[in-house]
Amino acid sequence: MSNPSPAPLEVLRNTFGYDSFRGRQEDIISHLLNGEDCLVIMPTGGGKSLCYQLPALLRPGVAVVVSPLIALMQDQVMAMQQLGVRAACLNSSLSAQQQHTVIQQVDHKRLDLLYVAPERLLQQDTLAWLQGTEVSLFAIDEAHCVSAWGHDFRQDYLQLNQLAELFAAVPRIALTATADPRTQTDIIHRLALRNAQTFTHGFDRPNICYTVQPKSDPRGQLLNFLAAHKDEAGIVYCLSRKSVDSTAAWLYQQGFNALPYHAGLDNEVRQLHQSRFLREDAVVMVATIAFGMGIDKPDVRFVVHMDLPKNIESYYQETGRAGRDGQPADAWMVYGLQDVVRLNRMADESTATEEHKRIERSKLEALLGWCEVTTCRRHALLRYFGDNVDGQCGNCDTCLQPPHTWDATEAARKALSCVYRTGQRFGAGHVIDVLRGQQSERIQRFKHDQLSTYGIGSSHSERQWRSIFRQLVVRGYLKVDHGRFGALVITPDSRGLLRGESTLQLREDADKSRTRKRASTYELQLEDEDLMQALRNLRSRLAEAAGVPPYVVFHDATLLGMVETRPTSLNQMLDISGIGQAKLDKYGEPFLQIISEHALVQPGGSADAAPG
Ligand code: ADP
Ligand code: ZN
Repeated sequence: MSNPSPAPLEVLRNTFGYDSFRGRQEDIISHLLNGEDCLVIMPTGGGKSLCYQLPALLRPGVAVVVSPLIALMQDQVMAMQQLGVRAACLNSSLSAQQQHTVIQQVDHKRLDLLYVAPERLLQQDTLAWLQGTEVSLFAIDEAHCVSAWGHDFRQDYLQLNQLAELFAAVPRIALTATADPRTQTDIIHRLALRNAQTFTHGFDRPNICYTVQPKSDPRGQLLNFLAAHKDEAGIVYCLSRKSVDSTAAWLYQQGFNALPYHAGLDNEVRQLHQSRFLREDAVVMVATIAFGMGIDKPDVRFVVHMDLPKNIESYYQETGRAGRDGQPADAWMVYGLQDVVRLNRMADESTATEEHKRIERSKLEALLGWCEVTTCRRHALLRYFGDNVDGQCGNCDTCLQPPHTWDATEAARKALSCVYRTGQRFGAGHVIDVLRGQQSERIQRFKHDQLSTYGIGSSHSERQWRSIFRQLVVRGYLKVDHGRFGALVITPDSRGLLRGESTLQLREDADKSRTRKRASTYELQLEDEDLMQALRNLRSRLAEAAGVPPYVVFHDATLLGMVETRPTSLNQMLDISGIGQAKLDKYGEPFLQIISEHALVQPGGSADAAPG
């Protein structure tokens, strides 16, 4: 026999340019190398792809990766090729000639990784062809699509169980970012994985800082938040197409490189905006939830929700698009009573079955409850997904600035009585006017200035009352009656409060919208900032020449590594995380060049070498 094949760690270092494995990557890889099946559940950015990409280089034959998203496939193929890995994809976006070339590459054993869409793989001729070649492993990405319990069921995924019989000797790895225990069992069963070991990694995204603020002046609050994110890429989610358009236009006026994205825009416009988001630095994508699926950009620094998402699952998935590269990122959301009213109405009006509506409502309640938590927000999120955690994470709003609570018994009683006295026919705005003793046409028309509750709440501001009403709805003391145009109605739960039998603690909304000052993701010295910018510019030029997004050339973290260590030789560059042999050969020289130019401009150290 010739040389024994290299060890996984060697490949990790030489080809991928990383020092060590993350989490359970090493276990998963050795499992596959032993020819066994497994299911991997790892949050976004956890490093799932490496779990099959690396064994693909060590096992003989071609690894077949099943992925439903063509855009994502092309991204991965590009990224692999940059590492010097022989990868290609087979899908309908290729010409017949191109497909022929790929097939030949496989036939001549000149390919390590082949990405295919499920419908293509499942064609009889594709399966027959692959049976005649050597397949090293099957990787089934987005494996939750096979389960009706998952959130994105796809019919053709069901047919993937054929692989178990047709390729009995080939190990299969199924991967997903979100699957609760029930979905996990279902995936194993439906894909007919054999003796599959499940590798879970927990749901935590420690680098994402979660913040939820009451919505008072949403645009002002957003601007305040974005002030700490100049020159960074991010996504701002809005509920409606209209608010996407107006928010994008407004942010653009405020000097941000903001672009709109929603299903109402022409296909070309959407494509253009998406590719600008991927290829340019610091684009803010203002979007409906139509945007995001299959976006693999690692350096999204923030995800903003200007309106509440549907439930905690959606929130987790949408915010999960931030910080895939493991660098600090923000998930920031504003919400107010209007969101609560609107989501309740949507649940009521939905055409789903009663059973389904009940589930939706309870998911909405869980989300609202989570918005109002006073303990660690991250841990509350993780517990929702079944992770067993408590204590404080130190990287969420409630840990960084613990919210105050106050005894709101008296105020709540006033609020509830006023709802009652006005006949349970009005929304919060009018009831607050009555409480605060305001004058309005409506108040006069209904003679509400003659009620005993008129003006009894003048010691609280309108904002404070909004906060009180919001929390009363979230906690079930009031409910919104959509049959009556959103009137507030008292629920049986509030009897105890009204009779003075129970008390109520509410969360105090912060007076001003406080933004945590994370000046920027990387705290760089001024001269380092210059070099970083120069490296970024070079990266953009090289990326453009190669026709790939900048992060495919190098991640920010890798550029940062160059700034920190200022290598003076190619050999030193190899020590930086994210630089393997292929990338060194391709890009090492020009980056070294820039770094040495900066050393000339900034003679380091000599001036301030005075002993301390
Ligand atoms: P997922 O598919 O789980 O969302 P990816 O496979 O895209 O995550 O990996 C996220 C990022 O982490 C990628 O940029 C990848 O190159 C990087 N990465 C993966 N494994 C390691 C590792 N062992 N060390 C450093 N970076 C890693
Ligand atoms: Zn916390």
